[in-house]
Formats: sequence, C-alpha cells, structure tokens
Amino acid sequence: MGKKLVVANWKMHGNLAENKLLFQAYIDQLSSLKNTDVVVCVPYPYLAQAQSMLQNTNIAWGAQNLSKDAVGAHTGEVSAAMIKDFGASYVIIGHSERATAYCESDENIATKFVQAQAHGLIPILCVGETLIEREAGVMQMVVGKQLDTIINTYGAAVFANSVVSYEPIWAIGTGLAASSDQAQSMHEFIRGKVAVLDKTAATSMKILYGGSVNPQNAVQLFAMQDIDGGLIGKCSLNAQEFERICCAA
Ligand code: 13P
Repeated sequence: MGKKLVVANWKMHGNLAENKLLFQAYIDQLSSLKNTDVVVCVPYPYLAQAQSMLQNTNIAWGAQNLSKDAVGAHTGEVSAAMIKDFGASYVIIGHSERATAYCESDENIATKFVQAQAHGLIPILCVGETLIEREAGVMQMVVGKQLDTIINTYGAAVFANSVVSYEPIWAIGTGLAASSDQAQSMHEFIRGKVAVLDKTAATSMKILYGGSVNPQNAVQLFAMQDIDGGLIGKCSLNAQEFERICCAA
C-alpha cells in the first residue's frame, strides 16, 4: 500500500507564537521520517505561516475546509485557489464538526471534493457514523451513503490519489477510539465499495482512521491492512505525542 500518511488536524487551536514553536518541533522531530508522509492542516490565517516555515521540509500543509464555489460574492468563504496560493497540498472536507455545526450537506461536500481536485489540492474526505447508528448496526449504510453522493455525481474515478478518513463521530475527542478490528472492517468496506467500480482508484486512494488516536493505540491501528495512516486531532498539538504516532505508522 506504499507509504503511510499521518495528518495533523489542529482544528481551531493555536496562535502565531505557539504555532512557531510547534512547527519547529515538527520539523526537528519528523525530518528523518522515511516511511511516513506528514501533513498539518491549520486554520486559514496560519496558511502563510505554515508555508514560510514548512517549505523546503518534508512536511506538507493544508486547510480544514474550502468553499464549494470557485470565486465570487461569497462573503467569508475561502476558495481552493486561495488555499493553493499558499502552497497547500491538502484540504479536509466534510469533517463531522463542520457537518453537524454548520449543516454541511453531502451534496456540498461532494462539490467541495471535486473543487479541491480541480485546483490541485488533495481532498481528505471525512466519513463516519454516530454512536446511535453504530449501535443500530447501520454504520456501513451511513458511510456508504456519504460516499455514494460523490460516486453517483462524479464517478468512482475521482477517488484516485485522494484520501478518505474514517472518523466515527463517537470516537472524535472522546478518548474512545475504534478498535483496530472495527476500523479495519470499515476501511475494507470503503475500499471494496470503490474497487467494485474502479480498481485503480481503490488501490491508489489512502484510507485514514481518525478519532482519539494516541501513541498507544496507533501501533495496532496502523498495522491493519486497509489502514493507511491517521487523522490526528488532540495529540497533534503535542509534538512528542505526534512524533510517536508518526513513528507508529
Ligand atoms: P481527536 O484525535 O482529538 O479525537 O480528533 C480526531 C479528529 O477529529 C481528526 O480530524
């Protein structure tokens, strides 16, 4: 499956002074990593800082959302081209913290996915079920529907070289990560769903796990066949913990 990918999602944390220290710690500790690609997704105002500190390092950077529109009268929105202007390579799309709090529809998320690709950004599409949905046993149906909105509109080929992150909502920020078997089973389902339609896309896409990943559980999670890396929230704000997670990959 090639190199693992570990993505830091700083969410709405940080300031110029703190970021400077954290970027530097990332650079110092992660520059010798050989088998893992590392990305840090920062709040928009810090894209310029990420660019100035991370260019010429082995760490890539990205944003945490983007507009579904390319340009125009959309006050407060940030376009894919603007994100790309700051040297970003990745953008997180459809994170559940946005989907619930800001009412993002699956249709909007699908448009953002292709908008990102059209501007040379690699989308990191977040999918996942709630606890009620898992307890009802409908998690594959829920995640399948999230993928279907993209597949039915744009085809499965758009998943080639993209990133999907399985983030069960009940595992985000709760300290209760999915077990490696639970995660593997969903990852296998996601890859299989794309593979039926487009084998090349299914092989080239990376499927990350996100939700309470820490240095301890990372080892088991990342050892699973269809887990290509992780999307890390809380532990990415601590350079030591993040390094240990990256080394587990
Ligand atoms: P935590 O690692 O804090 O659970 O967050 C996961 C997440 O939402 C990554 O996008």
